[in-house]
Amino acid sequence: MSLISQKLQAMHSSIAAAANAVSRQSDSVALLAVSKTFDADAVLEAVAAGQRAFGENYLQEALDKIAAVRASLSADILLEWHFIGPIQSNKTRPIAEHFDWVHTVDREKVAQRLSQQRPPQLPPLNVCLQVNISGEASKSGVAPADVLDLARAIIDLPQLTLRGLMAIPEPTDDVQKQRATFRQVAELLAQLQTQLGADGRQLDTLSMGMSADMAAAIAEGATIVRIGSAIFGQRPQATKEAVHHAKQT
Ligand SMILES: *Cc1c(COP(=O)(O)O)cnc(C)c1O
Repeated sequence: MSLISQKLQAMHSSIAAAANAVSRQSDSVALLAVSKTFDADAVLEAVAAGQRAFGENYLQEALDKIAAVRASLSADILLEWHFIGPIQSNKTRPIAEHFDWVHTVDREKVAQRLSQQRPPQLPPLNVCLQVNISGEASKSGVAPADVLDLARAIIDLPQLTLRGLMAIPEPTDDVQKQRATFRQVAELLAQLQTQLGADGRQLDTLSMGMSADMAAAIAEGATIVRIGSAIFGQRPQATKEAVHHAKQT
């Protein structure tokens, strides 16, 4: 068994344990394998182990990888690609064309472009609003107070389906703090579901929890956990990510 396949199996056990601890069904939490900085072979190994949903942050890297993976897979294996990185508004077209989900929508202009540029023969793009839940810590994300207005603007866009909220809290080792922050995101989603009335029913997604805080996120209702290093191994230090960022800008 490959190392990636062992790590995936271990991750499914951890997800099940975290879900069971709060009396949730383990299949109510989907595992998004974050393959950023890892190559197409790593993705193919995960696919061989049964993984189907992959998350990517850097657009050009992702487009190359999606093409390489597709070329090596038989046509009956369908993958789901999730864009989870910062979005530049002049780079929305390839995202609309090549991804199934976008977790990081935080402004109306980007949402409008994604909807306009989504090819009509494809199903609507699934989107989550990224919420800046820790305030100052992160530049990305819509402020909690502005979530409702943004959701109202997006819900009418024909080629998008608003699925819920995504958050990347400020890292902390304190599990109680992790839980308190994730709880705020969950409460924000519940509030939004009520405020949007009938439209709120399609909002079924809380994308939160990474390798270091997954259990806390699941305890507070995460429906998608985004896990990279615990599956694929440590990423080469931040320098590599900085280079990727530099290439994007
Ligand atoms: C890199 C990344 C992850 C995965 O992080 P790990 O700590 O490797 O599990 C999840 N979400 C986002 C938005 C990321 O950029």
